[in-house]
Amino acid sequence: DAMFKVGFLQDVYQEKPLSETVPKIRTRFPPEPNGFLHIGHSKAIAINFGFAKYHGGECILRFDDTNPEGEEERYYNAIRDIVSWLGFKPVRETCASDNFDRLYELAEDLIKRDGAYICHCTKAEIKVQRGEGEGGQRGGERFACSHRTRPIEESMTEFRAMRDGKYKAGEAALRMKQDLTDPNPQMWDLFAWRIMDSEEKQHHRTGGKWKIYPTYDFAHCLCDSIEEISHSLCTTEFELSRVSYDWLCDKLEVYRPNQREYGRLNITGTVLSKRKIIQLVKEGHVRDWDDPRLYTLIALRRRGVPPGAILSFVNELGVTKNTTNVQVAKFEQAIRQYLETTVPRLMVVLEPLKVIIDDLPDGHVELVDSPFSPKDPSFGTHNIPFTKTIYIERSDFRAVDSPDYFRLAPGKTVGLLKAPYPITATSFETDPATGEVTVVHAKYEKPAEGETAKKPKSFIHWVGESAEHNSPIRAEVRAFNSLFKSEDPSAHPKGFLADINPDSEEIYKDAMVETGIVDISKSAPWPKAAAEDDVENNKHCVRFQAMRNFYVCVDRESTPEKLVLNRIVTLKDTQGK
Ligand code: ATP
Ligand code: MG
Ligand code: MG
Repeated sequence: DAMFKVGFLQDVYQEKPLSETVPKIRTRFPPEPNGFLHIGHSKAIAINFGFAKYHGGECILRFDDTNPEGEEERYYNAIRDIVSWLGFKPVRETCASDNFDRLYELAEDLIKRDGAYICHCTKAEIKVQRGEGEGGQRGGERFACSHRTRPIEESMTEFRAMRDGKYKAGEAALRMKQDLTDPNPQMWDLFAWRIMDSEEKQHHRTGGKWKIYPTYDFAHCLCDSIEEISHSLCTTEFELSRVSYDWLCDKLEVYRPNQREYGRLNITGTVLSKRKIIQLVKEGHVRDWDDPRLYTLIALRRRGVPPGAILSFVNELGVTKNTTNVQVAKFEQAIRQYLETTVPRLMVVLEPLKVIIDDLPDGHVELVDSPFSPKDPSFGTHNIPFTKTIYIERSDFRAVDSPDYFRLAPGKTVGLLKAPYPITATSFETDPATGEVTVVHAKYEKPAEGETAKKPKSFIHWVGESAEHNSPIRAEVRAFNSLFKSEDPSAHPKGFLADINPDSEEIYKDAMVETGIVDISKSAPWPKAAAEDDVENNKHCVRFQAMRNFYVCVDRESTPEKLVLNRIVTLKDTQGK
């Protein structure tokens, strides 16, 4: 599978083929269960799972739950769910918290090896010691604090006291005894364990058992080691951490995995930070964390973006050490390309205008056998009722014709997609109060025996009215535009909220959908998309091209009484309309 050719260890690091370096590839995807994953995480998922898969190895889903403050059960579940939605199956699931006992033992071991000490300095004091604090007496020079040289037994006693609740948060911490002369700040006696003792927010899995928790710098490499990870793949902001990663494993003489770094994926024109999304949700700028205008993965799923489109997008970007900043428009182009060949096509009228074809008999219904795809016969066909009363797009009719206009106007002939023959508008009625056109009358251009049918210059979409066939189906269609006006909302001088686009949602309340949606919903997940969507969420699978409009997906708010459709992307790259 070309998608998983993550050959970057050779390309980026010029390493030897893996078969010569490690016996078995094992990676892990290590999210912290403190929020929903976003589009950037899909790169981390694709790399960790894809790399393992490509090399015949395995990938673990590890919840990096070492900080109880923001971690919640719903995030564990949402993360598990979205990884599976993206089509990946972890070989097993682990939690950093499963290892707390072992990590604690390793901490005592580190103290015994004179590799860590209990420090009581304040944050400000440590800043000064690191040569970073203001007014440092030694003029920016680094120096050790007095605790660094305390006897090993004393640190051990104090560490146990810390564990047993003698100190409050901030009064004591375990620090690694690294190398203050090293220019790399990751070697300046990093914190290893700190006190986090909150009555109201206990750890989701270990409850009140622990009053102290390991830091990322302590826990991550050791969890990797315990799980015998071959390659610990992370983003480049951890490049300097590789030194402390290796230092700790070596100091403890435990198995040392290979940390390697790749560039982050950022998307421009939106915000991904948890804090900002919380604000958008709280202040009602979006419907929820899965609002289709956001770039969390649950939002993309709700909007109708197929997981395969996300993966092929990420794969196209490739893997290097550079941060990739991608415009939303480029991402949408990938989605559009993916949808073009994978979803059926139906007709949806967003703003209906009634057309009565006067010369057809009352109650006329003709079932037209219509293919779901113009090119790919494997999509199959369905019947749509062509009737005396049909609805067309209000924008496809003009009361006043002009020579450069090719759709419907008085005296003008237009083709109806999928219908046997064109129609010609004969007259129209208006609402006397508003002047708005209410009904168009038309003539059916069925040729007489021996004559050839008129060839219209253009074709428009429509839906027929037939109570017998439950046509049309009413729907609310939500067309989403960019939530922000600029490419960099966070750079707005008044804050990102000031950059919000007031027209980020256009709602068509009275849209009409052809009955083909029933056919594709019945077989949901739609055969073409079934392989990649999870069946429990099969509402997400009902996506199709609304011909001449845009790609849509059935929204999760739909009920048997009310159908709601989301715009996934436009048909062309036109930013919005
Ligand atoms: P963020 O800082 O965006 O909230 P995070 O550090 O909280 O991300 P984690 O839950 O720790 O996210 O992420 C799990 C994994 O996903 C980590 O290995 C992290 O490096 C990776 N990751 C996070 N954001 C991105 C991104 N934008 N591009 C690529 N990988 C990412
Ligand atoms: Mg996170
Ligand atoms: Mg993190």
